Amino acid sequence: MNFFYEWRYYSLGSDEYRRYMDKTFSDNIPRLVQINGIVALLAFLFMVFPILVESNFLKARFYLITSAVALVFLGISHLVSRLYKQGKHFNKYFIYVLITLYYLNIIFMGIYLGVWANPGHLAVSFMCILICALFVFNISPIYYYCVTLCAVILFIVCAVLVKPFGTWSIDVTNAIFAGFISLFFGWQIIKFRISSSSTVGKLEKERNKYQDQSTVDELTQLKNRRDFFQTFQRFLVNYRQSDNFLCVAILDIDFFKNYNDHYGHPQGDECLRALGKAFAGLKENMNIYSARIGGEEFALLWFEKEFSHAEIVADKVLQLVRDLNIKHEKSNIAPYVTISIGVHVIRCGSTSETQILYDLADKALYAAKSGGRNRVVISS
Ligand code: GH3
Ligand code: MG
Ligand code: MG
Repeated sequence: MNFFYEWRYYSLGSDEYRRYMDKTFSDNIPRLVQINGIVALLAFLFMVFPILVESNFLKARFYLITSAVALVFLGISHLVSRLYKQGKHFNKYFIYVLITLYYLNIIFMGIYLGVWANPGHLAVSFMCILICALFVFNISPIYYYCVTLCAVILFIVCAVLVKPFGTWSIDVTNAIFAGFISLFFGWQIIKFRISSSSTVGKLEKERNKYQDQSTVDELTQLKNRRDFFQTFQRFLVNYRQSDNFLCVAILDIDFFKNYNDHYGHPQGDECLRALGKAFAGLKENMNIYSARIGGEEFALLWFEKEFSHAEIVADKVLQLVRDLNIKHEKSNIAPYVTISIGVHVIRCGSTSETQILYDLADKALYAAKSGGRNRVVISS
């Protein structure tokens, strides 16, 4: 039982194997297009040859059928590939049917070539290549083994039935040998593919982890200053193509030094975390990007259709912090924690220098502070 399990999942465990299949199975669609194209072309060339060299139209007719069938499959694969690119999802079994049809077509062509049309060594080698043709697809081992064994058996039966003993014994030996090579190398190749894909997956995960670590603020789990400036730059570039306003806001906690002095630094950290959590929620509710850019300073970025909406949103954020109702006995303006917000609203065509725009928002923040705190000042 264990052996069967190992074998079924290439001894990688079902999870790893499934992850690989989910990621790579759709790669079979573009491969089907290429490979049906190659078969159609090959069959067409095989058709031209007997017409020109042997004037044998019976042979040519067979290849005509093969290449026509391949052309039909090519058309279907092409259509499927186009729909796939447009985002349509295809059932796994449907793709298996397409692969089977492609394989049947070339197996019949191979048998014809190897058994009836040209019983020479070239034909046998060609047949061997056909048996190994499934290498190119990312398919399940069971399917791979069943189809390959069927192809070998079919080829052997046809050779035994049609050819004289001396010739078929050589062909049967060749078919068994090709089948063995196909099964052995097919296993190795697919196993190698899976393990390299899983290594790439692991490396990607690792890289994402480090990337996250370099852009996330540890205390609040919001994005950090570095990420804020990168995002700001990216927003500015994107926004050139639209007619929205881009708002950049800087938020600063009022009298936070007093808070720390009175409640202690750990409690101050707790307060920062609470604000961080509240700002993180803005992404979901209002599609506002938030970051912690300094000690007790945060920044927000968002797009706005109308200029006047910027102030409404900033007021909501101000209220959001008030609603947290974090006790602050040493604040000179309220018995709870408040913030001041400076917003700069950027219009299309203004400078794309993030530092200049940031400084303008910072100036607005300064105005909010000197205007009495716990308020919003908008600049544009
Ligand atoms: P204002 O209303 O003018 O902003 O007054 P303020 O006291 O908030 O301003 P100030 O810049 O004088 O003080 C900021 C304080 O923020 C100083 C520092 O103790 C505190 N702070 C900065 N980073 C952290 C942190 O990571 N954790 C904690 N607990 N406190 C911090
Ligand atoms: Mg400050
Ligand atoms: Mg402050």
